[in-house]
Amino acid sequence: MSTEQKKGHVVAFAFPFGSHPTPLLHLVQRLAAAAPGVNFSYFNTAESNQKVLPTADLKSYDNIKAYDVEDGAPKGYVFSGNPLERIELFVKSTPDNFRRRLEEVVGETGLKASCLLTDAFLWFSVDMAAELGIPWVAFWTAGPAPISLHMYTDVIHSRLGQNGAAQNQDQTLDFLPGLSAIHASDLPHELLHLDQPFSRLLYDMSLALPRATAVVLNSFAGIDPDVETDLKSKLKKILNVGPSPPPPGIDQDGCLSWLSSHAAASIAYISFGTMLTPPPPELLALAEALEEKQIPYLWSFRDDSKRQLLQRFFEKTESVGKVVEWAPQTRILAHPSVGVFVTHCGWNSVVESIMGGVPMICRPFFGDQMINRRRVQDVWWIGVGVEGGVFTKSGMMTALDVVMSGGEGKKMRENIGRLRECASRAVAENGSSTENFESLVDIVTSSSHQ
Ligand code: UDP
Repeated sequence: MSTEQKKGHVVAFAFPFGSHPTPLLHLVQRLAAAAPGVNFSYFNTAESNQKVLPTADLKSYDNIKAYDVEDGAPKGYVFSGNPLERIELFVKSTPDNFRRRLEEVVGETGLKASCLLTDAFLWFSVDMAAELGIPWVAFWTAGPAPISLHMYTDVIHSRLGQNGAAQNQDQTLDFLPGLSAIHASDLPHELLHLDQPFSRLLYDMSLALPRATAVVLNSFAGIDPDVETDLKSKLKKILNVGPSPPPPGIDQDGCLSWLSSHAAASIAYISFGTMLTPPPPELLALAEALEEKQIPYLWSFRDDSKRQLLQRFFEKTESVGKVVEWAPQTRILAHPSVGVFVTHCGWNSVVESIMGGVPMICRPFFGDQMINRRRVQDVWWIGVGVEGGVFTKSGMMTALDVVMSGGEGKKMRENIGRLRECASRAVAENGSSTENFESLVDIVTSSSHQ
């Protein structure tokens, strides 16, 4: 079917930082395959598109086109190194950058937008969609607990005091449905301090989400039942369509055959997602603990500025360790030789670890990561946080003992097994995520006939 003959035009707006753009693109690909009669446009900054598109094999889809939008950085701008700077410049350039590009694309193709499917952070889409008379479908790339916390920002502020800064950081949020395990200290900075542009964006998002036609999550029914029930009362439609893992990555460094030469559940897989490397003293502590415990490891490590620090460790442990710049993570976590995942608790990593049946050692840094650690450690019992919240040699050795050799590790694997079954039921034929995905296809397709 040629572009002209297709009905409808779903326009996806990405938030171009961290792991946000990739899951949205995968969702677009799933939808484009399920609705071949609809055109899909994927808007993202040039810099992010350059990273994301080469891994996506868009050539196989004749109904997806990707476009660049401006990132808000003035020409020749020199960044200070603070990651928030890029975000703030980008946020300032919204919504005009998306609006302009959309007008150009509609002008070029003659295809009016029939549905906006955007990262939930890009809350201005609700007004843009209303102006165009089309639905706004918001895609939330994290888990149910963090979205619920954002919906309760005002309540949290009023209960925890000025800027949500509770006197007692151990105070739990037992006044919120399903969130009693969360401590004040787990709350992300941007939820507590609303004076920053990025915090404001998230607050505005929490006000806009109840107006969304649907909110889509890469999660599954049953993982956080009380939170899900409460969210249903606040949003028009909540669609868990996961777990929907990314396409299996290419194993260019032979990680899988390396894993296959090791005993079951013997390897520590270490990765801190797309944005993070722990600070130098923590990297050294983690390395010393692995060496002392003689745990073979596979480490996804790309930070050249910190590589020198670990060079001696990498050389000394060459016979038991493997270091790669990028690992095919979902395939690694599904490999029986992996015994523990040392993670920053990004949502995708947590879900992938559950699907792989691997317990976690958690060292969260920011955003939703502390919330995810709390769920892993105190609600689902499928991992442990590192003692004191940062890597120390002794804390890491204790965590490795707990997860890899103790009876607790066995219990964690059983608990993960139950969550994994729940996830597998959700994505099976007639499962809740499968049915939710069909509802999403309906929303996208029926809006295309307007
Ligand atoms: N990832 C990967 N290989 C790596 C490091 C990361 O495939 O070497 C993928 C991982 O599978 C996950 C994503 O990158 O899907 C990281 O997302 P997450 O939400 O865990 O963390 P973020 O990058 O947003 O902090």
